[in-house]
Amino acid sequence: MRIRCPHCGLRSHAEFSYGGDARRQRPAESNADAAVWSDHVFLRDNPRDVHEEYWQHTHGCRVWLQVTRNTATHAISAVSIAADKSESPCNEDEQ
Ligand SMILES: [Zn+2]
Repeated sequence: MRIRCPHCGLRSHAEFSYGGDARRQRPAESNADAAVWSDHVFLRDNPRDVHEEYWQHTHGCRVWLQVTRNTATHAISAVSIAADKSESPCNEDEQ
């Protein structure tokens, strides 16, 4: 699988680190329900379809990307810089 980094170009996925589901919403800090936090921390969906994911170019420019990837075929249909998206992990302090 190859990912096209907007800064570095087309690179092997071995240069990147998977950062998780980009659609996943963190529970509110005020939510004290242990079951909600347990689900958020430990449970993951395993979709066999188009999936929005975070990837970091850890062995390159280190930028966080949001990648649209089909998990069955590994075909990548879109790549963007995650900081350009309001819900990215890079912008948590800005909310
Ligand atoms: Zn890069």
